[in-house]
Amino acid sequence: MSIRRRLYLSYVAMAFVPFLAISCVMLIFIYSSGYQDIRAYFKEEGDIGYHQAFVAGELNFVLETDASEIEKASYTAKLDEKMTAARAGFIVFKEGAITYRSSYVDHISTHENWERYAAEPPPEELTLNQYRYQTSVISFAYSDGSNGEIMLLLRKDVVPMYWKPIFGLTSFFVIGLTIVVLTYLVSRSIIRPIAQLKKAALQMKEGDLSSIAEIKAKGEVGELSTAFEEMRIRLKTSIDQSLLYEENRKMLLSHISHDLKTPISAIKGYVEGIMDGIANTEEKRDKYYKTIYRKATDMDQIIDELFLFSKLDMQKVAFDFKVIDLRGYLREFLEEQRFDLEKVEIRLETEGLEAKDGPVMAAADQEKLGRVLTNILSNSVKYMAQSGEEDRPGDRQIHVILETRAEQGYTIITLADNGPGIDSEDLPHIFEGFYRAEQSRNSETGGSGLGLAIVKQIIEGHGGRVWAENAASGGMRFCLQLPVAAPAKDGEKQ
Ligand code: ADP
Repeated sequence: MSIRRRLYLSYVAMAFVPFLAISCVMLIFIYSSGYQDIRAYFKEEGDIGYHQAFVAGELNFVLETDASEIEKASYTAKLDEKMTAARAGFIVFKEGAITYRSSYVDHISTHENWERYAAEPPPEELTLNQYRYQTSVISFAYSDGSNGEIMLLLRKDVVPMYWKPIFGLTSFFVIGLTIVVLTYLVSRSIIRPIAQLKKAALQMKEGDLSSIAEIKAKGEVGELSTAFEEMRIRLKTSIDQSLLYEENRKMLLSHISHDLKTPISAIKGYVEGIMDGIANTEEKRDKYYKTIYRKATDMDQIIDELFLFSKLDMQKVAFDFKVIDLRGYLREFLEEQRFDLEKVEIRLETEGLEAKDGPVMAAADQEKLGRVLTNILSNSVKYMAQSGEEDRPGDRQIHVILETRAEQGYTIITLADNGPGIDSEDLPHIFEGFYRAEQSRNSETGGSGLGLAIVKQIIEGHGGRVWAENAASGGMRFCLQLPVAAPAKDGEKQ
């Protein structure tokens, strides 16, 4: 239930619950004091004074005009009846002795000593059996000349005199109790989860992002807790990611320094060798110069790759996408490579590149895609050169296959060699920057370790995916998955 509805209902309940409770208490009081109908109670409450004044006035009149009436039994019986109806009683005195006591007086009290009020005037107000009675004495003279007095007892309360304050206190208590209970119920469902949220927020402030804030609440507060928990998870993920990036950055820096330091130390060593005269023959000097040149070229390549890698990593390289025929592009690209590969005795096999199979349209940056293929092919050349013939079933060869999965919206280019392959524990890491498997790290041919990281960045920049696997027959297999595009009308995308 929403907070607004909950508050609204609690306000309504605060108004109605006490009203209902007080009405019930009032009805209990009224029925227990003998009224069958609540209207009768209120009628009597309003009329009692008037009735009593009327009956007393009539009696006054009778006593003034014809006091002998009071001696007649028929009159007193009638008066008794009228007075009882008006919740009043009377006592008739003659020369200090009681000659008549109305039935209502007996109803008020059976053991009261009424005679004493012949000698002493009664107090203005008498309290008997929880009711207050207003008293008055009317003096008159009997027909025989003796002194007569009538004491009137007029009941002032409709219900016992303590009932009204008790009712007031009960009402006060009921209102208070209702407010306390409702406030507790409403606040329990709002304030408690908010307090729990506050505790969780403070924990987060202190850096504890692992504790799950288990807040059981519904409605808006429940939604707030869910959003809070999602925020905690995101914050934790993003902080974990930042820590990972930081770790990667440190590793990258250490790798870069190491990779640059190695050739520069070698260059320094060879230059010192020339300066100190260690390279004392023309032949030796020539060898030293060539090594220096090779090391400087290696450094240049590392710096180039590093530059491209960092630009790709920061997503600062603009891709020049064009919708091209991937089959045609690959066919031409590999034809250009074939000659170079044959020079190093590597046979190039292709599959799925025939023009008759029709075009495979994809949005690609041709230059960067060329970089990807070059990196993979040069790795194959590099690592196949390292492996001895005994590692290989036949000639050195690279097999390139293009498979289209148009219905799934992508195409896969597989580049497989029959070189040494890679240890399976190195396999998940080779696309990380500066990662080099043990065997290549120890070898002379080991490069920067950035080639495959660049491949991954470029393929992902194309919206594709790249992975590597060891072929069952031996050797390494790289798979490039690229999304295919519907041919653009003007032949160009972006
Ligand atoms: P490198 O400059 O060391 O070749 P790469 O990023 O191009 O760096 O490759 C990462 C690692 O993957 C290499 O060090 C090598 O161990 C492994 N690797 C890449 N291509 C091949 C392959 N064709 N055959 C065997 N191992 C390979």
